[in-house]
Amino acid sequence: MKRTAAMAFVVLASVSCGAQEQAASSTTAVPVPPASDPASETQTPVAVTPEPEPTGPPPFSSQVSRVTRDRLPHSWQPGCPVSYRDLRLVTLSYWGFDGKPHTGELVVRKTVTDDIVTVFEKLYDWRWPIRQMKLVDAYKADDYDSIDADNTSAFNCRRATGSSNWSNHAYGEAIDINPRENPYVTASGSTAHQNAKKFTKRPTKGKGVINPGDKVVKAFARVGWEWGGYWSGTKDYQHFSKGGG
Ligand SMILES: [Zn+2]
Repeated sequence: MKRTAAMAFVVLASVSCGAQEQAASSTTAVPVPPASDPASETQTPVAVTPEPEPTGPPPFSSQVSRVTRDRLPHSWQPGCPVSYRDLRLVTLSYWGFDGKPHTGELVVRKTVTDDIVTVFEKLYDWRWPIRQMKLVDAYKADDYDSIDADNTSAFNCRRATGSSNWSNHAYGEAIDINPRENPYVTASGSTAHQNAKKFTKRPTKGKGVINPGDKVVKAFARVGWEWGGYWSGTKDYQHFSKGGG
């Protein structure tokens, strides 16, 4: 059908172009409409120049794997409420404070890996920045040191802050994100971290800050994770956990 239409076009063009009629007639086997006509792009054989490779950042990627005991030398020990066999290492892309893609590691319970991957794919696609993401074992499982380094991490077999109960982190069902920009703030408004003092109020502006109603909070809510920034009294702006707490 296209070829027929083009042939008809050539005839019309020839009529209107007088001197070119002979040339057009002699090449009717290969219709060539005037170059100004958009149809020529589909009818005229043209050497195709390959499109240049996209130069943007790589797409989000993630991998879930079993975690060996020796990856958790400090964060797990016998007596923890969840066996390390029920934990998983999630290796995934995150967008850095430097405006570049990075690969981070998180350990979470095997039942929540889909939740984590779903949220972090969104964060990456939004270019939502994260300072760094290492297992808390890089800080010998010292929560204070990990927070002071503004490290995003999940599993840590420890008690809840100010409590003798296990933290949700001990179940691999909680994550702390950009803990310097999103500190744990007491009811009286203080934080234990000197470098976080400028981030104790909400809403506030800043790279990697989480405010009430933010898309980060909504992304976690969609997979059933609640934000510590909504607690009454004490606020834990870095903290998300499955089902809250
Ligand atoms: Zn936490």
